[in-house]
Amino acid sequence: MDKTLLQRHLDYMARYKGHRQPLVTPCCQFDLVVSAPTDAGNQWDSLVECPNCGELFMKIVTSTEARGLLLQGAAHAKETHHVLP
Ligand SMILES: [Zn+2]
Repeated sequence: MDKTLLQRHLDYMARYKGHRQPLVTPCCQFDLVVSAPTDAGNQWDSLVECPNCGELFMKIVTSTEARGLLLQGAAHAKETHHVLP
């Protein structure tokens, strides 16, 4: 039987020994724990599929926080950026 994306994520995090941060997904407000960098200057950005609802979102993780941005939000931010000099 194939494991769900959520089960694979939970299995991965159970084996993961590194730094981690809590993340509330922007699509369905699902509580996750994700891997995170340890260095203060590092930021990990990735496009991820929500393991709970399957929506795509941008995950931005630093040593102190994890945030998720829906792609519609990122597109809007890019659009509004055009008005800046
Ligand atoms: Zn979701």
